[in-house]
Amino acid sequence: MIRNVVIIGSGPAGLTAAIYSARANLEPFMIEGKEPGGQLTLTTAVENFPGFSEGIQGPDLMEEMRKQAQRFGAHIVNGFVHKVDFSSRPFRVWYGDEEVQAKTVIISTGSSAKLIGIESESRLMGHGVSTCATCDGFFYRGKRIAVVGGGDSAMEEATFLTKFATEAYVIHRRDSLRASKIMQDRALANPKIKFIWDTVVDEVLGSREKDGLTGLKLKNVKSGQISTLDVEGLFVAIGHNPNTEIFRGQVELDSKGYIKTPGNSTRTNVAGVFACGDVQDSVYRQAITAAGTGCMAAIEAERWLSH
Ligand code: NAP
Repeated sequence: MIRNVVIIGSGPAGLTAAIYSARANLEPFMIEGKEPGGQLTLTTAVENFPGFSEGIQGPDLMEEMRKQAQRFGAHIVNGFVHKVDFSSRPFRVWYGDEEVQAKTVIISTGSSAKLIGIESESRLMGHGVSTCATCDGFFYRGKRIAVVGGGDSAMEEATFLTKFATEAYVIHRRDSLRASKIMQDRALANPKIKFIWDTVVDEVLGSREKDGLTGLKLKNVKSGQISTLDVEGLFVAIGHNPNTEIFRGQVELDSKGYIKTPGNSTRTNVAGVFACGDVQDSVYRQAITAAGTGCMAAIEAERWLSH
């Protein structure tokens, strides 16, 4: 059986594409990915998604979108796509031990948090190192924590974490922040937040088996001076990488690995393959913009199929 539309990824972009293509009677087939519902399932309150004047919990919003897509006949399977072949039609998509063939593909695999890239960071991931303050902040009540990064995410996470932590140290590799003025001002005015400038994390100290994270070895990039910081948690907030590894060589990517689409469309360089959401958007990265491009992708796929 050759599917009309195969959607890879199940965040707001993919699920909106599923709702629209299901309502166009295309019977979309969605492969959820490792994190069904996407990044919003890692958040708590979402207060800026239009239509919810009192806000809505991220996982609840995604569950509603999923039910809405299923109501119109979207077929959703649990699985992780590990290979695609867009070199000929029908397109081929492999997940687990299965293969599905498709007339059109909508890529909505989103992005994942970037890591510093040192061995001790991955060793202590989940044992004091986190990439999600909203998920793990609660565990740091009454403790000292550090946040790496100088962008909006780092400011947001540090500010949020002061609800729990006694002190939050923002470790930034330069001496000026990238974050927007309003987010900077809020963090700089918070008495619980302290800034450590021109500094990188050289090593995360502690053991996975025993006490978890016990401190950080820091390096000042200007003086080369090494110091230690006593903290029990490290939140890495240095941006995101698009989840495009399996599409390398299949569709055109930009220098940062995002799928290239023209400004007014979700078309990729392969006719019949579309991309929406954070996998093609490094600028806005909002649930509502992802949903918007998901809608565009479904409409474009439908038009392409009816040609
Ligand atoms: P970002 O703007 O790309 O900032 C990443 C920060 O991490 C930068 O300060 C960067 O340093 C630092 N960094 C990157 N790689 C590093 C490394 N290997 N080691 C140490 N530091 C490193 O990412 P973001 O903060 O996640 O924000 C992404 C987008 O989402 C932005 O457009 C932002 O405005 C938006 N956003 C908005 C909100 C909000 O409005 N509520 C919240 C979060 C994010 P340099 O400055 O030296 O490059």
